[in-house]
Amino acid sequence: MIEVRDLVKHYRTRGRGTVHALDGVSFSVGRGETLGLVGESGCGKSTAARLLVQLERPTSGQILLDGRDLLAGGHRSRSGRGRRRSRTIQLVFQDPYASLDPRQRVGDALGEVLTVHRLVSDAAGRRRRIGELLEMVGLPAGTADRYPHQLSGGQRQRIGIARALAVEPAVLVLDEALSALDVSVRAEVMNLLARLRRELGLTYIFISHDLGMVRHIADRIAVMYLGQVVEIGSWDTVSDAPAHPYTAALNSAVPVADPVVEAARPALTVRGEVPDAARPPGGCRFHPRCPLAQPICSSVNPALEPFGPAGTGHRVSCHVVESAQRPASDLLLAHRQEHSGE
Ligand code: ADP
Repeated sequence: MIEVRDLVKHYRTRGRGTVHALDGVSFSVGRGETLGLVGESGCGKSTAARLLVQLERPTSGQILLDGRDLLAGGHRSRSGRGRRRSRTIQLVFQDPYASLDPRQRVGDALGEVLTVHRLVSDAAGRRRRIGELLEMVGLPAGTADRYPHQLSGGQRQRIGIARALAVEPAVLVLDEALSALDVSVRAEVMNLLARLRRELGLTYIFISHDLGMVRHIADRIAVMYLGQVVEIGSWDTVSDAPAHPYTAALNSAVPVADPVVEAARPALTVRGEVPDAARPPGGCRFHPRCPLAQPICSSVNPALEPFGPAGTGHRVSCHVVESAQRPASDLLLAHRQEHSGE
């Protein structure tokens, strides 16, 4: 349903030089599916979100929705007598408070979206639709008369979701949408998202720096590092045996519920910090931090290649893993055992 092809976004800055926020990102998401986009801060997740919802244009690359190139033309198609709105991709922010006008009642904030997009023709229709949207996100109709500061963080996030739903999108991009919420509220909003996805047939791209959060909601995940996707696959495949050393490290930082399993589990950490995206390392971008790095890793950037059994859609970009045909989770353990006796 969504296909992102070779997306590049470079920012020219004063002082810092050219920032490689995205460097050739490709992935696809099927209808009704949730793709988790994960990686540490600065790896390009929010940039990808802004490009997906067309707040910014990429330096190069394509974004297709239902086979239609979103970047070509740019006008909503209107055909025949009736208006046919193209289905869209909408963004839900981490902090809806920042995007809600403090002086505007919730009902007016939602109504504004309906009016701007000409989705309602009169005041009664507008009121009815506002009520429907509030109900959809599990808020009482009276919420329409409230101001943003009178709502809790969870309620505001529900308004953020209602506002995105107002234009009947095909896809929601959720950028750290649950990160600011308390654990119990987070679980409620996560359940709401799961219900909305089912009932409205939505497709989600769920962005988070926290792999532990993504696992509750994503069918597949794409792991990003310094502007590139280093691994993509079904959640089960990737979490059972992370193929990329970076994914293995992220995964080992996620606590496991079973304390016995947790205690027996080796921690696979990586050294150092994410380099500046204005000066990405040559070759594999992860090589300066990678315990498995070989000479080739500093000169050739590995392509994202199929990994493991055919037909799973699992892909990884790592020379070492591809030549060994073993996931990094295995290789890192073996590497550690080899070096622990020294
Ligand atoms: P993430 O969401 O994963 O934290 P971002 O997409 O925000 O990552 O940022 C990716 C890189 O691009 C970072 O190095 C960031 O500093 C840089 N960046 C993002 N937006 C801009 C911008 N408007 N101008 C210059 N650099 C930017």
